Amino acid sequence: MSIQEDKQYNLDKRYIRMAAIWAENSYCLRRHVGALIVKDKMIISDGYNGTPVGFENICEDSDGLTKPYVLHAEANAITKIARSNNSSNGATMYVTASPCIECAKLIIQAGIKRVVYSEKYRLEDGLNLLRKANIEVVYINLNE
Ligand SMILES: [Zn+2]
Repeated sequence: MSIQEDKQYNLDKRYIRMAAIWAENSYCLRRHVGALIVKDKMIISDGYNGTPVGFENICEDSDGLTKPYVLHAEANAITKIARSNNSSNGATMYVTASPCIECAKLIIQAGIKRVVYSEKYRLEDGLNLLRKANIEVVYINLNE
């Protein structure tokens, strides 16, 4: 690794660790996912999986199933940008889980250029869609 690559790796690792800490905000019982959007070395948005603003925080129905209106961490981070004066164009997204295909679509449309994630998932259709859109996809193992 060159010094430049090494620097980027260290930054990526710190931001993904921050996203993992941010995931602790989630009220969902099944899974905690955190996301950060970083542009020009500034965190311009954040999100974790949860219900929309104004809804009760509980993510699961009485059968323990995730409610259909729960937003993924990536969607929460991207829609938070829409309510701000920032732009996600050209930014990097750090997300603790591998993005699903629905979030991959939002990531592409939001103009995000890099996605760093830390948890692999058996389905790779989201990652494949990102790659197809020429988005750089980086996996970081938080356990090493
Ligand atoms: Zn998703």
